[in-house]
Order: sequence, then structure tokens, then C-alpha cells
Amino acid sequence: MSASILVIAEYRDQSIRQVTYEAIQAAKQSTSEETQIHVALIGFELDQAAHNLAKCGAETLYVMDHEDLRDYNPESYAAAVMHIIKESGSEGVYLGHTAIGRDLSPIISSRLDAGQISDVTAIEKAGDEFVFTRPIYAGKASEHKVFRSTPWVVTIRPNNIPAAEVSESDAERVDLAYPKPDSLRTTIRNVVQKSTGTIDLAEANVVIAGGRGVKGTEGFKPLEELADVLGGAVGASRGACDAEYCDYAMQIGQTGKVVTPEVYIACGISGAIQHVAGMSQSKLIIAINKDPEAPIFKIADYGIVGDLFEIVPLLTEEFRAAIA
Ligand code: FAD
Repeated sequence: MSASILVIAEYRDQSIRQVTYEAIQAAKQSTSEETQIHVALIGFELDQAAHNLAKCGAETLYVMDHEDLRDYNPESYAAAVMHIIKESGSEGVYLGHTAIGRDLSPIISSRLDAGQISDVTAIEKAGDEFVFTRPIYAGKASEHKVFRSTPWVVTIRPNNIPAAEVSESDAERVDLAYPKPDSLRTTIRNVVQKSTGTIDLAEANVVIAGGRGVKGTEGFKPLEELADVLGGAVGASRGACDAEYCDYAMQIGQTGKVVTPEVYIACGISGAIQHVAGMSQSKLIIAINKDPEAPIFKIADYGIVGDLFEIVPLLTEEFRAAIA
């Protein structure tokens, strides 16, 4: 395929996001023996992160550490990535299909004049080709795509490809200076974090989501307790966000976040197609709804017909006892 592949690490809130290791594994799955895998770490004050990433199984770890790269800015990050692509001689680029990856990948693709496949959930080898699978039509179908030429850019949906295992040897660290653009059309003044719990919704293994059925801000409390016990994150339908029961940062669906956890528990969510678009690829779906005809039951592996305010605390109690 390509002689050299670059994985753009996702570094946020002083930590390397899990999707970075999944993208490294994706790179390993889509290479031949001779292909070299490099990782790019971009940000500010990166020594600890670089140390943590060293055993990711890559040949080289390119580190670009500069105060101007403290916060993600598409212009500065695109300049940084383009420089690392050139230095590493990479013909293929992997990013996470995250807010940053979705923003950055088309910029990189257009600058490279590259082909792009987004939101990849699986990679398979068929003969000499690597076939990339991505869900389409809100998860109702999937398409298989191949690249016919280089360069190319791929984004990986979090939680679908297993993370790369820790390697015995360290990647060679190469520090590169930031090629500061003469001027930026936008600059970041400050970043205001919206609190949606400590676990990133897009990367959570367990998601407890509340809909309009939670009936208010307070109604999310039992869901938060269940998420706490299961080590999960709390999400929401747009119905709940529109009703101002919770922040839009929690919205799952076509116009919100796409999640693919091991377990998704929908509480008081009807299952509108736009919601399903963001959660239908979850491994196990459990729906709690008092309406037995609610569409969410059509895609649920397990359905509980009843009042979420009775059922969710019971589940919390049972799981707490089972885990203790
Ligand atoms: P409702 O449809 O009102 O369902 C509430 C459910 O709660 C009902 O099924 C009811 O039986 C149940 N319930 C009530 N009380 C209880 C109780 N005590 N116990 C158990 N169950 C109870 N929606 C999204 O979610 N994400 C998106 O990204 C999104 N994008 C959209 C984009 C567009 C362009 C459009 C037009 C719509 C979009 N929507 C999206 C909105 C979507 O169409 C639905 O309106 C929304 O998902 C409904 O939210 P809900 O299921 O919480 O509310």
C-alpha cells in the first residue's frame, strides 16, 4: 500500500486519547511488512505525553511542541501536520473521527490532493487491497472502499478497532520546530470546557442516555448514578437537549455525537431515526421506555417496558451489589 504512514495522535486535556492507539492499530492492519508507521504528537508541554506514547509500536514519534499549539486551531494544526507529513515522507495519514479529526482531515486531504475515507469502522485485506468499511445512511448500511492511489487520508471511528498493544521497544523521538505561519486568520482566545462528566462520551464503553422521558434536569440524576457504578458516560437525545434538561454537548445522533460503546442504555428515548444514527452501532443496546410501541425497541437487544424512574435505580442497586 504505502511505504510510510503517519498517525496523528489526539492529545487533549493533557492526555493521549484512546482513539490514537486505535488509529495506530488501524495503520498496522493496513500495511505491508516494509511499511513504516510514524506518529505525530502536536501540542504544548508534551514531554510526559511523548514518554507515554513511546511504546505505541511506531517507528518514529514526531513531536512538535510549541505554545501556539496549546489549543487546537485548524490553521496552525494543518501547518504542523503538513510539515510532519513532508518530513516523514508519509503517503497515508490516519486520524481519529473526532471533532478535531473531522475538522482537520478535509483540510489535510485538500492540501495533499489526497483521497479520503471517513468514519472507518473496520479494515480488511482482500488480495493486495485494503478494504475500508464505513457505515452510511445512519448506520442502516455500510460501504466498502479502497484507495486507487496515494496519498490518502483516513479517519477512524472511536471504539471500533482494538487499540494497539504496548510495544517492547521505544519509537525514535524526533523533535520538529513548528513552522509558524506568517499570520493566522483566526486565533483562539480561550477554550471554555463544558462539563459532561469525566469520561469522554465518544470514547466511553458504557453510555447511559436520557431522552425527553427524564422530564427535567433532576431526571438525569438516576442516570448519572448508574453511569457512575458502571464507569460510563451520560448522553442525551436532542429532545432532552432542546427541552433544556441538559447541555447540547451531551447530544447523541445525526447532529450530535456518534457513539459506539459496548453497552448503550436508552432511558425515555423514543428512537427517532436521527437519534439512532448516533448510537445504532453500539455493541449491546438496552432500551427502557414505558411505551411498548416505541421505535427504540426495534433496534434494542433488550427492552424493558416500564417507568425509567423505577427501573434505573433498580439496575444501579443490582450492578452495585454485583460489583461490590
Ligand atoms: P420523544 O420522542 O418525545 O420520546 C420520549 C420517550 O420517552 C417516549 O418514547 C416516551 O414513551 C418515553 N417516556 C416518557 N416518560 C417515560 C418514563 N417515565 N419512563 C420511560 N419512558 C418514558 N435527535 C437526536 O436525539 N439526536 C440528533 O442528533 C437529532 N438530530 C436531528 C436533526 C434533524 C434535522 C431533525 C429534524 C431532528 C433531529 N433530532 C435528533 C430530533 C429527533 O427527530 C427527535 O425529535 C428526538 O430524538 C426525540 O427525542 P426523545 O426521544 O428524547 O423524545
